[in-house]
Amino acid sequence: MRPQNTLARHPFLSLLAFTGLALAILAGCAISLGDHLTASAAAEGLTARARIAQGPVTTLLKAENHAGVQDFCATVAATTATRVTVILPRGAVLADSHEDPARMENHGDRPEVVAALAGRVEPTRRFSHTLDTEMLYVAVPLHDGETLLGILRTALPTTELESRQAGMRRTILLAALLLFAVAGGVTAFLNRSMNQPLAALRKWAATLADTAPYRRPAVTGPAPVVELAATLDQLAGQLTERISQISQQRNELEALFGSMVEGVLTVDREERIQSFNPAALALLGLDPGRVKGKSTLEAVRNLELQRFISATLSAHETREGEIVLPDPKGRDRSFYLRGVPLKTTGSAESGALIVMSDVTNLRRLETVRRDFVANVSHELKTPITSIAGFVETLLDGAIEEPENARRFLAIIHQQAKRLHAIVEDLLALSRLEQEMERKEVALVRHPLGESLAAAGQTCLPAATAKEITLQQECPAGLAAWLNPPLFEQALVNLIDNAIKYSPAASQVTISATGTAEEVVVAVRDQGVGIAPRDQARVFERFFRVDKARSSTMGGTGLGLAIVKHIVQVHGGRVSLVSTPGKGSTFAIHLRPAPPQNEQTAA
Ligand code: ADP
Repeated sequence: MRPQNTLARHPFLSLLAFTGLALAILAGCAISLGDHLTASAAAEGLTARARIAQGPVTTLLKAENHAGVQDFCATVAATTATRVTVILPRGAVLADSHEDPARMENHGDRPEVVAALAGRVEPTRRFSHTLDTEMLYVAVPLHDGETLLGILRTALPTTELESRQAGMRRTILLAALLLFAVAGGVTAFLNRSMNQPLAALRKWAATLADTAPYRRPAVTGPAPVVELAATLDQLAGQLTERISQISQQRNELEALFGSMVEGVLTVDREERIQSFNPAALALLGLDPGRVKGKSTLEAVRNLELQRFISATLSAHETREGEIVLPDPKGRDRSFYLRGVPLKTTGSAESGALIVMSDVTNLRRLETVRRDFVANVSHELKTPITSIAGFVETLLDGAIEEPENARRFLAIIHQQAKRLHAIVEDLLALSRLEQEMERKEVALVRHPLGESLAAAGQTCLPAATAKEITLQQECPAGLAAWLNPPLFEQALVNLIDNAIKYSPAASQVTISATGTAEEVVVAVRDQGVGIAPRDQARVFERFFRVDKARSSTMGGTGLGLAIVKHIVQVHGGRVSLVSTPGKGSTFAIHLRPAPPQNEQTAA
């Protein structure tokens, strides 16, 4: 049997059984009461008849009319269907309506006679050997004043009594059975009317959790069931609303965590990873399938991280820290960690939330900034020390020696110019950075031939001084997106370097070529070249392959850094191909500008 049937039928079956039992007890009581009432009514009837007959029989006895007594008994018996017996005080039967008194034995020992002789009326039920049937007897004394004349006994066969009792029992049992049938019908009806809506509700409640939006069934039935359905409906409405709120919040949180740059992971009290966002996996280089439920030490294999998590779990407060972890390529990366203990019930920690940000770039920039400040200080210190030294010498008396004074002043002038050049370059760099940040550099379609010619013109005096030939190669009409003054500055820096680091009477070629993908402007020299190990570093600020040589040539070590920045502003890149002793080619790669008519059409 299915559980819902047991549950649904059980109370009604119990009720039916209880009703049956109650009816059986009631019927039992009614039958016993009926039997008793019938018996006492019969006894009372016999007593009443005996009392009525008492007077006439006493009169006949007083007159010693024994034949009259016998007749009287026979008459009464004929009209009332009652056996009437008259017994003399000593027990001899004087008259009997149903038997010849002569053949009847002494009745002095019969219980009803004994009771009557003692002055009591006691109905007695016993077997009559005279009539060979069970009878109910009642006996009353017959007195003439104080003298006892005899006993008058009335009797009925119990068969009649029993048939009356049987009839009554049948009626009572029939009534009980009828009542039981009605109770069964009502119970079955109630059972059905309760069961059907309850089964519908049960089915509905079972599907409530997984169907959205839920559909309430039409419930009809007894008022409590309908009320229950309404309450359940209300509850289901609230539940659905709450579930949708929770899932919306969960979706929002998932979207939030999913879009975060910071890695987020949660661990339980045993430091096992419970949840994580994609950033955490990417930062730690973890495989999503092999993280959940693993201990952090097992998943990440880093003692520092594990120690930080343990400390967060035991500290009961937010913690911060920084660790270094190798990335999948083995490079060290710095992570800033923030650990928050998670609490669920009471104050007990159920785990911890770890947020991690990759601060590698920040740390690198800090190092770059520190190095830059140190470099600038160092670069400025040399000319300042030199100027201060010569001024002191002059003040100490050298000013009085015109020749020395002139030489010293020339040196001071040169160092001041150097200082000026450094400061100018630094300012140019910072301006470029600012413009880059604010995206203030305006680019226009500009013919490259013009820029090449202008830069060449600027560098011509220096080239002429070293007898260097400046050669320009640029197809007519080749153009690019440029900021002309900045681009010319970059070209001047490159040509200037080419001249500085080339032997006299050599050749510097400035060429521009264009394809559909890019425009390349190259400055090629036949100079000293740059060793491969220094090639990547020449674009760093203050980096010089040969410090002394650069300084004597008035170099600040910032020229190529400026070139790099200018090219970045143009959305391009710089490349270098160099062979020591043979020469170098610095190239600027830019986006090409579309032909003039296309641009106009656009
Ligand atoms: P500097 O003011 O010292 O020239 P740059 O930033 O312009 O500073 O150049 C950095 C260094 O790169 C130079 O000191 C020099 O050693 C090297 N370098 C630059 N251009 C050339 C070149 N055309 N040939 C050889 N070396 C060069």
